[in-house]
Amino acid sequence: LMQLFRPLDLLGWVYRTIRQGLVDMAQMFSLIDTEVEVEDKPGAPALKVGEPSIIFDNVTFGYDDDRTILNGLSFEVPAGSTLAVVGPSGAGKSTIARLLFRFYDPGSGRILIDGQDIAQCQQDSVRASIGIVPQDSVLFNDTLAYNIAYGAEDADETTVEQAARDAALMPLIERLGDGFETMVGERGLKLSGGEKQRVAIARTLVKNPPILLLDEATSALDTRTEQEILGTLKRLARGRTTIAIAHRLSTVADADRIIVLDHGTLRESGTHSELLSRGGLYAEMWAQQAQENREVEEIGE
Ligand code: ATP
Repeated sequence: LMQLFRPLDLLGWVYRTIRQGLVDMAQMFSLIDTEVEVEDKPGAPALKVGEPSIIFDNVTFGYDDDRTILNGLSFEVPAGSTLAVVGPSGAGKSTIARLLFRFYDPGSGRILIDGQDIAQCQQDSVRASIGIVPQDSVLFNDTLAYNIAYGAEDADETTVEQAARDAALMPLIERLGDGFETMVGERGLKLSGGEKQRVAIARTLVKNPPILLLDEATSALDTRTEQEILGTLKRLARGRTTIAIAHRLSTVADADRIIVLDHGTLRESGTHSELLSRGGLYAEMWAQQAQENREVEEIGE
């Protein structure tokens, strides 16, 4: 009988997932095939965010019992500041984002937002407080206005327009015959990677969350577009608490604090210049990336 209910469970999960506006998140973390779901405790209160500080307090986590992915991880992101998470591939960077979004609960330790243990709060309320700008956004087969307001359908026209302006989408919209009513997505106008990311930024501006989770600008963007997007992301992050997951280093140099993860353990933390003068893993990664950039330039010449 349980076999019969499984697909129904999954359907329910998919429905709730989409309803909660998690499409971007699913896309960001390839979670489509993940069936895990955390349970809210009976009578769990909603998370109330006044000062959106984030604390990881001795967090240990593994996707399965025989492999620990995060190992006693502790760090703090003061309200309004930006933390960048860097480290070799597979170090556990995206896992931090998944735990913060409460796709999973830690095996031990706690994650606090504004002093409240998120595992004890309603998951919807945790997710509502976090805006996500993924590397590669999905667009729905609908109008630009719908895509920008997605997840906050009650947003009025002025809010949508202001968000488009702040996300530097207006030059594009003004070029289009139908403006905000232009159909986009698979069957409509195809947008470039940079334009799609701007739509995701505008969507996040409409949602206006106190916390931001950024997946670093994609390497598929050309340098000029990447610089422009970075500028917009900086404006987006102003006044919010931000965790930026970085797969390349060049984009995180001006974060308030950088943590370097290695095999799920915090190896180093500090500002860009502190970490460089320390001469450790970060400095090594920085030197290696500079070398790679030089090689790319040489090939381009
Ligand atoms: P990258 O920079 O390559 O994206 P990352 O630092 O973000 O890497 P994570 O995605 O957090 O790394 O993954 C950490 C480890 O957890 C990896 O070894 C990965 O194989 C494993 N992992 C990730 N997702 C799952 C999952 N759903 N089930 C089991 N193991 C997983």
